[in-house]
Amino acid sequence: MTDTPDKQTTGTTAQNTGRDDRPMFNRVALVGLGLIGSSLAHVMRRENLAGHIAGATRSEATLKRAEELGLCDSYHLDAAEAVKDADLVFLNVPVGAMGTVAEHIAPALKKGAILTDVGSVKGAVIRDVSPHVPEGVHFIPGHPIAGTEQSGPDAGFAELFENRWCILVPLENTDDEALARLKRFWQAAGANVDTMTAEHHDLVLGITSHLPHLIAYNIVLTAADLEEVTESEVIKYSAGGFRDFTRLAASDPVMWRDVFLNNREAVLELLGRFMEDLHVLQRAIRWGEGDKLHELFKRSRRIRREIIEAGQDTPAPGFGRR
Ligand code: NAP
Repeated sequence: MTDTPDKQTTGTTAQNTGRDDRPMFNRVALVGLGLIGSSLAHVMRRENLAGHIAGATRSEATLKRAEELGLCDSYHLDAAEAVKDADLVFLNVPVGAMGTVAEHIAPALKKGAILTDVGSVKGAVIRDVSPHVPEGVHFIPGHPIAGTEQSGPDAGFAELFENRWCILVPLENTDDEALARLKRFWQAAGANVDTMTAEHHDLVLGITSHLPHLIAYNIVLTAADLEEVTESEVIKYSAGGFRDFTRLAASDPVMWRDVFLNNREAVLELLGRFMEDLHVLQRAIRWGEGDKLHELFKRSRRIRREIIEAGQDTPAPGFGRR
């Protein structure tokens, strides 16, 4: 472990202004320092959300890079060391690794601490983490609906969560005060907070995130395997629509492997529905049903408009690309 002196472990109150300048949490542990972990570190600094940020990651290379970037106040290869005395612990590792990491850190968790995660699937994380959560620790699963196709500690930025939704999944015995504190944390990070059940989360994200990524991976691979169209032509003419899929298809392979393996039921159900609807389009094209195609496309255009009106994307042409 390497340590830099605590910035403000106990907190101080600015006496002249009467303003409370104490950080929201004394010690926050980030287990996983990739895109999400490093973004949390940046926003915690900006908003004074932690007196001490303890960062942990499994590889020396990532830890060294996090240290070079100055993301945290202390750096640990052993996550159990990082979570010791932490009031808030974030698990920012791939969904498939959550259970193992939780098992490892469990004995070091402080009584009264909030344990949360940012995993893209909720049912499987609850299944894998819950058995390890010690008595007196508040486990509140979460998922910020914010990301990019980049990964690693260099990818993070403080504005990632700005005006994005963060879904919290309170469990049967979730403590109201702990939930309210975690909610305040995410709001201070710029996010809007919603709560829902794990099952509903996995279905909603299945259609809004998981299925689109699967389709993107597939279309990019189909294009790559076409024999009559060369790869250089695919790249050269990609502005025709293909490149918008390539952004999604460039997402981290480990993260997405784990998402599909751990949200299997919802994704398979949605994929079935998707293929039925695709057959409807296929049939309409085959039988020259122009009116039908026109009606369907008008409906999907409305959905795009609603996303823009909700402030979830830019109205600029080409997603604001120059
Ligand atoms: P990332 O940039 O790839 O970083 C992953 C972090 O987890 C790194 O610190 C990595 O450590 C560590 N890690 C990887 N495999 C591990 C394992 N088997 N055991 C322990 N640690 C491991 O990932 P990310 O994009 O921040 O995603 C983290 C979590 O956030 C995932 O659960 C993902 O589902 C969720 N999420 C992602 C997005 C997104 O768009 N990316 C959005 C919302 C939520 P080393 O580098 O040291 O190996």
